[in-house]
Amino acid sequence: MKNSFAALAGLLLCAPLAAHELPPDPEPQPVDAVMTAFGWDADKVEIRTQEIADGFYVLFGMGGNIAVSSGEDGVLLVDDQVPAVMPKLRRAMRKQGDRDVDFVINTHWHFDHADGNLVLGKEDNTWLVSHSNSRVMMQRDNPVNLVMAAATQKAYPPEALPDITFDDIMQFHINGEQVDVMHFGPAHTTGDAIVFFQGRNAVHMGDVFNNAGYPFIDAANGGTLDGVIRNCLEVLAMTDANTVIIPGHGELATQAEFGDYITMLEIVQLEMLAMIADGKSLEEIQAAGITAPWDEKRGDPTIFLNRSYVSLTTRYHP
Ligand SMILES: [Zn+2]
Repeated sequence: MKNSFAALAGLLLCAPLAAHELPPDPEPQPVDAVMTAFGWDADKVEIRTQEIADGFYVLFGMGGNIAVSSGEDGVLLVDDQVPAVMPKLRRAMRKQGDRDVDFVINTHWHFDHADGNLVLGKEDNTWLVSHSNSRVMMQRDNPVNLVMAAATQKAYPPEALPDITFDDIMQFHINGEQVDVMHFGPAHTTGDAIVFFQGRNAVHMGDVFNNAGYPFIDAANGGTLDGVIRNCLEVLAMTDANTVIIPGHGELATQAEFGDYITMLEIVQLEMLAMIADGKSLEEIQAAGITAPWDEKRGDPTIFLNRSYVSLTTRYHP
């Protein structure tokens, strides 16, 4: 089943696509204004801690989920949310016995996963780690087109930029286990890092896996739907029935739930490619109800379909 999906999508992706009219870009606004528009309020948010194993837990707050590994070698975070919630995050970590942050791996450069660098890079002198493309993105102002609004993410000062970058794979040997940090090509962005905690049998997927809705594909900055699927299949092959899968947003998932997510993406991509090859417009695709079987669980597909359409029709790779 998986292979035939991939083969068919491969064939369709190779087919020449006619010129398609792209949706307009919204006027960029400051990140704070967009967060307010999306109802994010640092004063109201409560940090929830979910322990997966001794010295290994996930912090749910405002922005991307944070995985924390702590032990004799120090404290390593995957993602660091935004400065406004850092005091609350620090309080939650102190409850677990953790203080200064030694390492942060940014799954990608988006503000809701990496703006915490602005605090940790300065106050904790944290070693910041990311894919090399994410560091490039953090060095300049980037509009993030979220369809309903666009946020301009400002370039980071030197202390918030990653100190260490990787291209394909790197390892940490920390707190009694090997941690593989991997990149499988453009997906949610062009600089996604997937972090596999081998000893814990847990993987942080960043926004390549959204378990709180449909995935957001940053098509304006090189993200692609087929890349998201490819990344997920690479990770799926490394998991077993006991692997804890940590999404960028939403609740922890099992291998089976992750598999369902991938199947949904494969079906949507196939149907979209067929409609695009048929010359259908974005409006016609939006109206076709492709995502209907999953809308109750995942919510409004408007942004997902819009960004997927752009990624499938422009084949943009910087
Ligand atoms: Zn993101």
